[in-house]
Amino acid sequence: MEQIKYTSGNNYQNITITVKLNGKDVKVHGLCTGSVAVKKNFKTKNGPGGLSKLNILLGSQYTDYLPIWVWVIEHPEGLILVDTGENAESKNIDKFLAQESGFMRYQMKHACKVNIDTKDELNYQFNKVNLKLEDVKLVVLTHLHLDHTDGLKFFPNQEIIVGKYEYNHQNNSMPSTFPSWFKPKMVDYQENKIDVFNQAYPITKTEDLLYIPTPGHTLGHSSVVFKTDDFDIIFAGDASYDQNQVLKGELAGANADYNLTKQTYKNLLEYAIIRKTIYLPTHDEKAGQRLENKEFLV
Ligand SMILES: [Zn+2]
Repeated sequence: MEQIKYTSGNNYQNITITVKLNGKDVKVHGLCTGSVAVKKNFKTKNGPGGLSKLNILLGSQYTDYLPIWVWVIEHPEGLILVDTGENAESKNIDKFLAQESGFMRYQMKHACKVNIDTKDELNYQFNKVNLKLEDVKLVVLTHLHLDHTDGLKFFPNQEIIVGKYEYNHQNNSMPSTFPSWFKPKMVDYQENKIDVFNQAYPITKTEDLLYIPTPGHTLGHSSVVFKTDDFDIIFAGDASYDQNQVLKGELAGANADYNLTKQTYKNLLEYAIIRKTIYLPTHDEKAGQRLENKEFLV
């Protein structure tokens, strides 16, 4: 049995940086809502096709506890959030997933271990950086997995967007954990909006925040590009678990479609050659550090 390493799930430091947008200062925050350890075969594909999925359940080794980042942009059009992080109730799988299938509970128990206290949740993280939950104007979801949606409970009155395809073709989401009022606005990508990715949904009127297709982890997974004056930031959700996977072409075992992931990696790398890009996956141990030091993907 592996020991839980931290008494608190909040082992990662929140990060705040200031970027320039049309010459003006805009703050970007990385807030960490607890951490999660996953089976090594969950993070890194082991074996062909269906066997790689079985190996997740059969494997015994876990990764270190990885962060669960939430990204906040103090955009001139309002406070915008990318994903919502985890909450402490998720630790009690039997209770939290009581409405889900027995197989889903089994999978969760044999794939990951969440480490989060109530004081690691988003309301506490917002306080730490002097932000107010009620000031959030828009919540953008990269996909519908619970470590990205469990913080939705804090935003009953905010607009929430998610990709239409993601909503209509969910992979391993747990709809019983969504708040009862959850009715996101479903968005479609538009053509000819961005280099390489081509399609994008403009999140802001100024089109400096774009929702782009990065499928593979789920069939409808999206990322968010922030085009600042000096460089771009891609808030990548689970497009990969860390930057190295993209650089090395390493696939995650957990992914819904490995070929889509390969194309997504190719697009990300091509994009990063055209525009200097800080690449920030949700569970990347070094994402906060790269944001702070402004380190680019290539
Ligand atoms: Zn996910």
